Amino acid sequence: MTDDSSGHAVFAERLFDAVQGHLDVAAERLRLEDGARKVLSTHRREVAVSVRVPRDDGSFDVYPGWRIQHNGARGPFKGGLRFHPNASRDEFRCFSALMTWKTALLDVPFGGAKGGVQVDPKSLSVAELERLCRSYLTSIELVIGPYRDIPAPDVNTGPREMAWMYDEYSRSRGDSPAVITGKPVKLGGSLGRDAATGRGALFALDRIARSRRWTREHIRIAVQGFGNAGAWFAELAHQLGYRVIAVSDSRGAVVNGEGLFPHDVLRHKQQTGSVTGFKHGDTIGGDDLIGAECEVLAPAALEESLRVDNAERVRANLVLEIANHPTTPDADRLLHDRGVWVIPDILGSAGGVSVSYLEWVQNLQRERWSEERVNGRLQELMESATDLVLERADEGGVSHRAAAYELAVERVADAGRARGWH
Ligand code: GLU
Repeated sequence: MTDDSSGHAVFAERLFDAVQGHLDVAAERLRLEDGARKVLSTHRREVAVSVRVPRDDGSFDVYPGWRIQHNGARGPFKGGLRFHPNASRDEFRCFSALMTWKTALLDVPFGGAKGGVQVDPKSLSVAELERLCRSYLTSIELVIGPYRDIPAPDVNTGPREMAWMYDEYSRSRGDSPAVITGKPVKLGGSLGRDAATGRGALFALDRIARSRRWTREHIRIAVQGFGNAGAWFAELAHQLGYRVIAVSDSRGAVVNGEGLFPHDVLRHKQQTGSVTGFKHGDTIGGDDLIGAECEVLAPAALEESLRVDNAERVRANLVLEIANHPTTPDADRLLHDRGVWVIPDILGSAGGVSVSYLEWVQNLQRERWSEERVNGRLQELMESATDLVLERADEGGVSHRAAAYELAVERVADAGRARGWH
């Protein structure tokens, strides 16, 4: 192992421990029996595969891949696939558990899983990437299925990759659109899936704003990460009347206290490769966005972007987690002690899997819903989960993360107990 990969292994283990820590706190408060704690803190199945990819030049490569299924008490396993040079078993262990709690909190009838391949997709041609997708799918084919485990997009994967995998699965099993979600709309994907994570986060925020009697125009939002989820969230928040005052990407941030037009920032990013240098704002360092003068800070980038070393600088009253695990447990405590509300990832980032559920339902019924219908259902799902979290946090005098975990863990434990924990 190189220093870099062992460093990453420590990081991935830490991610998993963080999610386990949130489970332990909830299990304690819920007084869960020992058996339940054992089941919920372990993974049901971990499949490790070697993904074989013939290269364009006639050579051959083999990449490590995984599909990790955490818990299926509430329904088929569900969760995304990521292609990343640092992808690892421990990372997938963390994210598959997060999926279990996310689907339970949203009350969609799924369990949790995650998977993918340790590869830099940028090092492959499109034809090689297609072969990688087909080979990965073939190697996990036995453990997935429309009623078994339903993959979806995640980091570095999208509708194109989902289409190849749907096609590969259907070759041997007959047409099976419900085996994977996040497909292109022309192949049974759902309208609204693309914007779903950002839109879902906005529904949660808007519900909270209403409950706190905030006026949208007075709410200044800083969005860390301007990928799919962050960019959609910023654009839709702006359309609803919120003031998006800063956005960032891996190269830096752009800020304008009067408000930015996210659509224009996106066009600038598409033309130049970054949000930095946008002419209607000041370019600052990416990390400086964390200390921006605003009411809402929305981390929508990578894991652990809010840590003890920068959480002190947060000036927002509310942190809305749109990424998976953006806040370390220490930073979480620090923010809680300072009175900053943290809306946890299992709520803030749940819009994607919620619309994946609606896509799956449409596929099983061979129906196609209008975008209004999809968005309307997403709104109901997000608002009722948000209301429950607000209520539980209020009643129990606990953080929103603790409240969300209690609700989710309780539901999974109830389902597991009713099945007899087999
Ligand atoms: N990868 C997304 C997530 O982390 C979506 C998963 C899905 O749609 O199944 O929530």
